[in-house]
Amino acid sequence: MSTTSLESPAITNAIVSDLDRSAVFHSWSAQGALKPLAIAGGLGTAVWDHDGREYLDFSSQLVNVTIGYQHPKVVAAIQEQAALLTTIAPAHANATRAEAARLITDRAPDGFNKVFFTNGGADANENAIRMARLYTGRDKVLSRYRSYHGNTGAAIAATGDWRRIPNEYARGHVHTFGPYLYRSEFWAETPGQESERALHHLERVIQLEGSASIAAILLETVPGTAGILTPPPGYLAGVRAICDRYGIILILDEVMAGFGRTGEWFAFDAFDVRPDLITFAKGVNSGYVPAGGVVISDEIARHFDDRVFPGGLTYSGHPLASASIVATLSAMAEEGIVENAAFIGSNHIGPALAALQARHDVIGEVRGSGVFWAIELVADRVTREPLAPAAMGRLKSDLMSRGLLPFIADNRIHVVPPAVITPEETERGIGIIDDALSAFAG
Ligand code: PLP
Repeated sequence: MSTTSLESPAITNAIVSDLDRSAVFHSWSAQGALKPLAIAGGLGTAVWDHDGREYLDFSSQLVNVTIGYQHPKVVAAIQEQAALLTTIAPAHANATRAEAARLITDRAPDGFNKVFFTNGGADANENAIRMARLYTGRDKVLSRYRSYHGNTGAAIAATGDWRRIPNEYARGHVHTFGPYLYRSEFWAETPGQESERALHHLERVIQLEGSASIAAILLETVPGTAGILTPPPGYLAGVRAICDRYGIILILDEVMAGFGRTGEWFAFDAFDVRPDLITFAKGVNSGYVPAGGVVISDEIARHFDDRVFPGGLTYSGHPLASASIVATLSAMAEEGIVENAAFIGSNHIGPALAALQARHDVIGEVRGSGVFWAIELVADRVTREPLAPAAMGRLKSDLMSRGLLPFIADNRIHVVPPAVITPEETERGIGIIDDALSAFAG
């Protein structure tokens, strides 16, 4: 057994790395060559390692630390709840849990008054899918290529990226293409064409799969890890109309895009669409304690008034998670953090990325809103060939050596800092990307 004290000021990155490599099995990786960055602490938009090196966080970890690190009100709420009651079974009524649910439904559209709590985003989608199947008596779930919905049975089968393929044991999942004008599957040249053709494709798939067999369409409102693909005008309203036409439940996955990321409380607030079920996690408490859930429309909630909902989790609505949700949502409202995300997006990130694109040929497209942006890098602007993984790896190392913690996905840099970021920090971070792209071109 190791005798190293983690309290010791002498602890170094090397010691933590050795400990990690000897005992921790990491996600989504071949373990042999891993060299994870050791993080010792964080505050606001900064994190630092054990050797005194600080990074400006343009990743929000896995796009979850919306409120920034160590927000004092959230930390205090967790401490106070820990002193009062650290755990309670989901079958009991608990004041903190009920308050968390109330604050969440307050942000949702009219007609959403119940929350089913989970431990994260995957099990939120898992349970939303189950609700839709039980409500409709149908089986199939339609989701998109270019999506991520989580790492549990139905959630990974609904996912549309490579992570589904080695995990695909569940039946009843169908995938379609969604709108992505820069790499259109529909030969579209305008957002209007892309929207219309993606909707046509979706409806044809529904008809050919047998519309009466489809329980739910599950969509990330703005696909996140897949590239921050803001839907074109009319697309989500069109999906809603298709769902109504065929009696299909619309589940919007707001796990990454929700709770402030796009500059709205819910990303769908910016679109003309009303879902039937909303799944959330990440931003609801910035991941200070694992939490997620499903916000349930009254129609679906009523269905389970006199029928058993056959689902549950030991830690559903855990008091520490609930306390962190109450404090996070209250602090976000009091401090105008969602408004700050919108302001930073429109006045700082958007214009700065447009200027970067004008200067660097390697940038094919920039897109996003709030603190949710993608810079798409290409080997050739005409063919739009994605920048190769090895080049992306070099760029990532360079960004880190310049003091930025980036979020890299495929051929993209996602600019996804905490929503508490200031204009000066935004300028500094995008300046680092500018310098790294200049060095890369050189
Ligand atoms: N849905 C979306 C859109 C996500 O981005 C993620 C995680 O990145 C999930 C679901 C899964 O959430 P979790 O990792 O909390 O299970």
